Amino acid sequence: MIEVFFLGTGGGAPSKKRRLPAFLIRKQGLSVLLDCGEGTQYTLMQYRLGINSLKIIGISHMHGDHVFGLLGLIASMGLLDRKETLYIIGPKNLKDFLFTSFEYSKFYPQFKIEFINSYEDDEIKISTFKTCHTVESQGFIISEKDRVKIDDKKLKEEGIKDWRIVRKLKEGKSVEVDGRILHPEDYLIVKKGIKVAYTGDTSPCQSVIDSVKGVDLLIHDSTFLKEPSAYTYGHSNASDAAKVALEASVKLLALTHISSRYEDVSMFLKEARKIYNNTILPEDLSYIVLK
Ligand SMILES: [Zn+2]
Ligand SMILES: [Zn+2]
Repeated sequence: MIEVFFLGTGGGAPSKKRRLPAFLIRKQGLSVLLDCGEGTQYTLMQYRLGINSLKIIGISHMHGDHVFGLLGLIASMGLLDRKETLYIIGPKNLKDFLFTSFEYSKFYPQFKIEFINSYEDDEIKISTFKTCHTVESQGFIISEKDRVKIDDKKLKEEGIKDWRIVRKLKEGKSVEVDGRILHPEDYLIVKKGIKVAYTGDTSPCQSVIDSVKGVDLLIHDSTFLKEPSAYTYGHSNASDAAKVALEASVKLLALTHISSRYEDVSMFLKEARKIYNNTILPEDLSYIVLK
């Protein structure tokens, strides 16, 4: 199970309705923040989402609307007496940006900040993919690992109760029972892990399509409704995001990074759904649980 909190679904400049980009992804004790627009720490605090429970922060690119909240957030982590290492996956200039700012503001975090390119533990994997923006930029894929479960129902039906047999099957080994060979693949159920992808800022892009194939949720740039110059700015229109979702056969598309120029966003959904029906346009502070 993965929870996705849409903390900031605007882009460029904040509006009354939409804050700057930030997405909180949680899975059993692991909290990951993707992008950190200005004000993200207030949102986390206001809704008790726990600043210091963040273990990993992913930054898609160095534009201010995605990164200006990070300094304040890290400073607050320090003031809240953080001890645990903070892992950051970000563009190569991010480290200099942070440590130069720390230097000038005489802030010296008492916890370790480690820059990594990807993350993996027993439950989850976080990797990046190239996106198409006006500066070096990356998207993120958070993948839950597949889980293998023993088919208890089938074992019961066949009257197999001996735990030594069950253990061998769980270990992927064949077992002989009363002259019959039981193969593990017949008694194991694979529960596919959930996959969530976030593009950050991007124009429609083949590398995105290739990287997000079949994900359960794609959070895609949809800055504009029908703006011919969208690609010049490295962004997408609602219909572009929908085409990517369709081509990549994702299960659900969430439009984000909505420009503050739009008051009424209902047309975004209409345009996108003409191409890819399973599209949502999350408001700030909405969340989805993916199982
Ligand atoms: Zn942006
Ligand atoms: Zn940008």
